Amino acid sequence: MKEDLEEIQRQALKALESASDLRQINQLKTEFLGRKGSITQCLRKISTVPPEERHVVGKLANEVKTRLEAAFKKAVGTLKAFDDRPADALDVTLPGRSAFRGNLHPITQIKEKIFEIFLRLGFEIVEGPSVELDYYNFEALNIPKNHPARDMQDTFYVSDDIVLRTHTSPIQIRVMEKQSPPVRIIAPGEVYRVDSDISHTPMFHQVEGLMVDEGVSFGDLKGILTTFVHQIFDANTSLRFRPSFFPFTEPSAEVDIRCVMCRGSGCRVCSQTGWLEVLGAGMVHPAVFEMVNYDTEYYTGFAFGMGIERIAMLKYGIDDIRKFYENDIRFLQQF
Ligand SMILES: [Zn+2]
Repeated sequence: MKEDLEEIQRQALKALESASDLRQINQLKTEFLGRKGSITQCLRKISTVPPEERHVVGKLANEVKTRLEAAFKKAVGTLKAFDDRPADALDVTLPGRSAFRGNLHPITQIKEKIFEIFLRLGFEIVEGPSVELDYYNFEALNIPKNHPARDMQDTFYVSDDIVLRTHTSPIQIRVMEKQSPPVRIIAPGEVYRVDSDISHTPMFHQVEGLMVDEGVSFGDLKGILTTFVHQIFDANTSLRFRPSFFPFTEPSAEVDIRCVMCRGSGCRVCSQTGWLEVLGAGMVHPAVFEMVNYDTEYYTGFAFGMGIERIAMLKYGIDDIRKFYENDIRFLQQF
């Protein structure tokens, strides 16, 4: 009987330790101290104890009962105190809130990929001013004043002789004025044209490339641009060179890639042609070399230029260039 009472007390205290809410505590209380509980059951059997031991067992039973009642009362009190804690109390068991993480703008990401590819091919990155002299933007690139080729680019004029650069090609001239061949540069930057619609914004980004040395041929241009297209899109992208005209290159070509949307079968994006124009290129015009005093007997070179927005639109399947500049976080977060 004595052992039974001690065992009940041990079990009750152990069960109470693992109880985590009021419902569980009350259930245990009924189980041990209720009218049909183990203590009560035990006390009922007290008549079977020999008379000389009864008062000892009875005393112990009352002690166990009192002890357990106190333990239950304390457990309820602790639980209440926990529930009554102030609403702003720090709950160290909650997972932390992570800080908002931004990401690079898609144009920056594409620009960095382009840099990476050309740096591996041995090109250097050179920058120049956005507000440019007419001379560098046009004249030195074989586009004299009043030449009809000026109509190809709608220009923001700051004054008669100063423009917002319409392409990053003036950087070619600035580099060649200071440096003798070999030259192998890419020139990134923002450019400006009076134009605004679904595929044009008044400001956009270009990367221009220039390579000059003895014996540089159209074959080198094809090789470099094929490597570039394969790395920026994918290795299975076919490309073609289509004859074109630029005042500063001769011969000139537009480079098209197989439509990334329809894989060449014809769709709305490629106007059913199966091809998409990605960049302009050509062999540097001898008139440009003469402006920077390069000996056209020895040196040849090629140049190319591309719009970074255009590359990003084709790579990511974006149909409206203006989305890059609306700063809608739902759009920007996707890259
Ligand atoms: Zn297509």
